[in-house]
Amino acid sequence: DLHPVRRALLSVSDKTGLIELGKALAERGVELLSTGGTARALRDAGLAVKDVSELTGFPEMMDGRVKTLHPMVHGGLLALRDNDTHVAAMEEHGIGAIDLLVVNLYPFEATVAKGAGYDECIENIDIGGPAMIRAASKNHSFVNVVVDVQDYDALLAELAANDGQTSYAFRQRLAQTAYARTAAYDAAVSNWMADALDLEAPRRRAFAGEMKQTLRYGENSHQTAAFYTDGTDRPGVATAVQHQGKELSYNNINDTDAAFELVAEFDPTNGAACAIIKHANPCGVATGTTLLDAYKAAFDCDRTSAFGGIVALNQPLDAATAQEITGIFTEVVIAPGASDEARAIFAAKKNLRLLTTDALPDVSAGGKTVRQVAGGLLVQDKDNGFVGMDDLKVVTKKAPSEDQMRDLLFAWKVAKHVKSNAIVYVKGGATVGVGAGQMSRIDSALIAAKKAERMAEALGLPQPLTIGSAVASDAFFPFPDGLMEAAEAGATCVIQPGGSMRDDEVIAAADEVGLAMVFTGMRHFRH
Ligand code: 5GP
Repeated sequence: DLHPVRRALLSVSDKTGLIELGKALAERGVELLSTGGTARALRDAGLAVKDVSELTGFPEMMDGRVKTLHPMVHGGLLALRDNDTHVAAMEEHGIGAIDLLVVNLYPFEATVAKGAGYDECIENIDIGGPAMIRAASKNHSFVNVVVDVQDYDALLAELAANDGQTSYAFRQRLAQTAYARTAAYDAAVSNWMADALDLEAPRRRAFAGEMKQTLRYGENSHQTAAFYTDGTDRPGVATAVQHQGKELSYNNINDTDAAFELVAEFDPTNGAACAIIKHANPCGVATGTTLLDAYKAAFDCDRTSAFGGIVALNQPLDAATAQEITGIFTEVVIAPGASDEARAIFAAKKNLRLLTTDALPDVSAGGKTVRQVAGGLLVQDKDNGFVGMDDLKVVTKKAPSEDQMRDLLFAWKVAKHVKSNAIVYVKGGATVGVGAGQMSRIDSALIAAKKAERMAEALGLPQPLTIGSAVASDAFFPFPDGLMEAAEAGATCVIQPGGSMRDDEVIAAADEVGLAMVFTGMRHFRH
């Protein structure tokens, strides 16, 4: 099933590597066909090219909307070479077979990303390109289709290894990639339109991704896995640069994402912040004048859990913090940059992965989150909800002091990133107890308090740090009991959405024990 490549059609928007590819093909005696700009580029490099317009007998027209949409092109791509009627049709109409199609599409995604207006985006929807790609892909029994510059080398290697021919298996792989490309392209167009039209729930939705890396395994060793990027260049784990350490695992990527998204809640111009994550939940989050202070305070929330954790910083990693982090086993550190000294310190720790980005994730950015359920996808807006001082309603007789207010808002930001039911105790800009993922809110309150007691013992403190703390609950207290658990642990002020049928009871209970409580009016469930 080896087939020779004798005739190629090249039509590319991104001209990277085009000349080298054209030369290599010409050297193999491959005849080159091409569209306007691509033909010009090849000709300028001294290569012999036939214009598609000459082939079709039609000029490119309507601003390039119609260039290759013609039986001379599509017949050449689609004809089955081993089918007598197809071959007869080719002969009758003078259609020459096209064995290789090299296309990359109008840069629709990049046009949207640069903020172009509606009409410019529409003009950048490639029509002939995807049509040819789909035709060539369908006919992969005979035709090679290349849609990515990064595959040029593989094509040339295949031709070199097989004396100017390619194997069926090779063409199959190219076709699979090509269909994913046109799918991703149309997904981008459709998602852009959904945004442009402000559609809350479009009747049909498409998602697509591009392979970033295969992973050794998924959440567990018997599950295969891979990491795909979504084509947006957002700062985050998908675009971070890894400087050292083993390849990231599935769980590492998931936890690093959780860590970086959380720490990005803290504006670096207001001070340093650190989040330590285990199993997608924070086991310590703190702010500080320096990163070192923030890291130490985050670590002191739950030293036991921080072992083997993922550390995220909101400022570039410095030497002092790097030194401190190497004190315990840490899986990954992610930060918006790292100093040379910090990197030198980490270099001695071969297993520690260091990831850096140019910027922090934008927590206010919109976008969708997708989760799979049996037979479907659950799609929702990213939780970019924000609550500031002005949004809070004091519901108790006692109002929080300024310091308490600061800790309440801090606790609220953290609670947004803790799996529900979330209870977060905070004191002095650091978490002192985090209760996550429990089926009852009381249990989350209890577990967080218990952890604080254990830390007090370990640190030799006279009493748990929850005494005099601020507490956040990601959703309302349905009964006073969970709130009373927090009060018993020593919380003196509370932030919660409110909205329970029994708010009155809960407020009365808070007043009775002298708590100051504020309502946010917004819930942060996270599952
Ligand atoms: P060139 O730079 O060669 O003038 O144009 C190359 C681009 O045109 C490629 O991105 C290719 O996908 C696209 N293209 C090829 N044929 C057609 C067509 O018939 N209609 C449209 N809209 N685009 C085409």
